[in-house]
Amino acid sequence: MSWRDTTLYSILNTKCPRCHDGDMFPKGTLYNFRKFSDMHEKCDCCGQPFEPETGFYYGAMFVSYGFSTAIFIAVWIALSLLTEEVTMFMMIVALVISVVALLPLNFRLSRSIWINFFVRYAGPCKQQKAQL
Ligand SMILES: [Zn+2]
Repeated sequence: MSWRDTTLYSILNTKCPRCHDGDMFPKGTLYNFRKFSDMHEKCDCCGQPFEPETGFYYGAMFVSYGFSTAIFIAVWIALSLLTEEVTMFMMIVALVISVVALLPLNFRLSRSIWINFFVRYAGPCKQQKAQL
């Protein structure tokens, strides 16, 4: 089994969970604040729908919540190491900056993790087509 066949590969590269070939999101739009939430309707390689049912990604909010908690803890630790006393103002400013800066990443990784819970890897696109 190669790195390409792992679920982690699909999650980190936001690739289609079924074939790991197609992209879930249009290329080059991660840090375009108007387009970071655009997602392809289905995989352009194997045809796997990326929103299998309405409201599918409500559950991804729990994953996103986990990331936000991790960001909060990381900011708190970083501030504690950098300054002698962490004030509420410093904490709020650092948190707002971190959360906004990481929002597109958080959004996409949460969706990628969520769909990987439900859709199993079925091999590369070419192999899937050969089986049909
Ligand atoms: Zn696919």
